[in-house]
Amino acid sequence: MSLVNKLSALRDLYNTGITRPFDYRKKQLQKLKAVIEKYEQQLYNALHEDLKKSPEECWVTENGFVLAEINNTIRQLERWMQPESTGTNLVNLPSKSYVIAEPLGVVLIISPWNYPFQLLFTPLVGAIAAGNCIVMKSSEFAPATTALMKQMIEETFEPGYILFIEGDGAHVVPEMMNNFVFDHVFYTGSTAVGKIIYQMAAQQLVPVTLELGGKSPCVVESDADIKVTAKRIVMTKFSNAGQMSVAPDYLLVHASVKDALINELKNVLQKFFGDDPRSSEYYGKIINEKQFDRLVKYFADGKIIHGGRSDKSRSYIEPTLITDVDPGSAIMLEEIFGPILPIISFDTMEQALTIINRNKNPLAFYIFTSSKEKVWLNAVPFGGGCVNNASWHLTNHNLPFGGRGFSGTGHYHGKYSFDTFSHKKAIMKTPTWFDPSIKYPPFKGKLKLFKWIIR
Ligand code: NAD
Repeated sequence: MSLVNKLSALRDLYNTGITRPFDYRKKQLQKLKAVIEKYEQQLYNALHEDLKKSPEECWVTENGFVLAEINNTIRQLERWMQPESTGTNLVNLPSKSYVIAEPLGVVLIISPWNYPFQLLFTPLVGAIAAGNCIVMKSSEFAPATTALMKQMIEETFEPGYILFIEGDGAHVVPEMMNNFVFDHVFYTGSTAVGKIIYQMAAQQLVPVTLELGGKSPCVVESDADIKVTAKRIVMTKFSNAGQMSVAPDYLLVHASVKDALINELKNVLQKFFGDDPRSSEYYGKIINEKQFDRLVKYFADGKIIHGGRSDKSRSYIEPTLITDVDPGSAIMLEEIFGPILPIISFDTMEQALTIINRNKNPLAFYIFTSSKEKVWLNAVPFGGGCVNNASWHLTNHNLPFGGRGFSGTGHYHGKYSFDTFSHKKAIMKTPTWFDPSIKYPPFKGKLKLFKWIIR
């Protein structure tokens, strides 16, 4: 069957209405949960092969993360699906108004390689919950995880309901989007490819969610708790060897605490990963040679004060701290997306904001302080973030996760995923027993009354 015919089969199934009832959706979520549990060990093996993730890291950021999302969705779904009553304004009384959450139809989910399981399966949970038929496109750069995910999906679901697509995104995604009209495209990946997706979707006015990248700043104020701050920054920045969209891209530290912070960062790095992080089971590897070559070039953009070793044969780049970076150098212009952390000091907030504003609308923003959070949170437009923490906001399914502008459009997780994959149909029901002539022409002499009712 050609790819386009496979996509048409999804549309045919969707049109039967089978995916709409609550029981059907719940059953699919339970099946999804069961297959994730069944393949737990194989998932650890695959994620280790692709990215050298430990089972503990996988549980927090990949399979455990998705299972928590499924459990929460199963618990809340019946409530989310109920029509939502709203008020009715004076001019429309005694009508009743409500909003129906309707499935979108056939949706496409495209994911990157850095959290290959989480970033494909978390939106999948929302798309199933909202009653859609789904095409999943994984990244070609995480082959072991992709092969396993394909097996899991094909063993659990009919291809006419959930279709798993692999292969070169630059080829297979245009083939789908140019020959089939999706009802929504949910894309996670780089800003450059996000623009291509947005343009293809625009041709057919297909709505999109774009979860993109960028440079997420992390500010450490003069009144931060340095010991805790260092632990939390290292934890996030060097998790998955820095290949995390919400990792602090660079640090802006108040000059009065710069030395203390650097000392503490070095201590923590040693405690977390030992003298040779290459042999730590809790330190990951770089996904491929292309990314490795891109990253090691950044070593030349400043002064290495910790780390700096690498081993191409093992896709290893040591956690590296770097100072004295030139604001015009590549490391400060491009998203780093690896285990290299530039540290820049500031004396005034204006100095720091000048640097932040060079890369508008970061996906995340982190401020470490005991008293100055408000002023910082108001000063920077960003997707989401943390005070005295980094990246953990995305693990709370009660918060919307997404960027703004250059870092994306739309959001998901928990109820926000359900809403993203639903259309909010607005309904007003007007009784026929009350039908005053004032509403109908001729209108002569009624303006005063209209002004009183509609204002
Ligand atoms: P990428 O943009 O190269 O690839 C993402 C997906 O797009 C893959 O499935 C790929 O096959 C497909 N693709 C590639 N070229 C395409 C094209 N020309 N047309 C259509 N589809 C195409 O991204 P990546 O390198 O896999 O991931 C890294 C980027 O993703 C970083 O910028 C990172 O910040 C971002 N990211 C964002 C989030 C988030 O939640 N906002 C999460 C993870 C990663």
